[in-house]
Amino acid sequence: MSLALDPEAALASLRTLHEAIDREVDLLNEEHAERLRCGPGCSACCLDGLTVEAVEAERICRAHPDLLRDTEPHPIGACAFLDGEGSCRVYADRPSLCRSQGLPLRFLLEDEHDEVVERRDICPLNLEGGPPLEELVEEACWLLGPAELRLAAIADAFSTEGKRERVALRGLFERDRPSNRESR
Ligand code: SF4
Ligand code: SF4
Repeated sequence: MSLALDPEAALASLRTLHEAIDREVDLLNEEHAERLRCGPGCSACCLDGLTVEAVEAERICRAHPDLLRDTEPHPIGACAFLDGEGSCRVYADRPSLCRSQGLPLRFLLEDEHDEVVERRDICPLNLEGGPPLEELVEEACWLLGPAELRLAAIADAFSTEGKRERVALRGLFERDRPSNRESR
């Protein structure tokens, strides 16, 4: 992992970003409570092979040294941080991308005519129990983009020489670090 010029400031900014995401997500969770099936034990969205910005990996490493040193990652096939009951073992420190899982999502992209078009999506488990996505007002959806831009700026501040690094969540477990794999 690269050394940051000011890792403490970057980590403080990351915590602020996570808190801001959580505040917005809490409001949307309340609004969509009837359709959301998310909760302990539901973990189909916790995929294996996720990578995160180095600054988000650092937050997890600092908060969970015992977990990473003394416990095993979840077996291959789901996120290494899931426990046997399908709950996240680093929930309070989970990466940004995990924090808005399950909500109606809205994103903007350019079509083949260079026109900006909107797309919407939601976890299939949360499709029923509320209005069709296309009938939701924009504010009722989580807009992909703004939080990612803020995270990118924080990740830039955390990196050295402009080289941002993505880190595999599974690789944070001591036994799965490349240096340790070679010696086993
Ligand atoms: S970090 Fe936690 S919430 Fe995110 S994918 Fe892994 S188990 Fe799921
Ligand atoms: S997003 Fe879907 S798979 Fe993930 S916790 Fe919510 S309902 Fe379950």
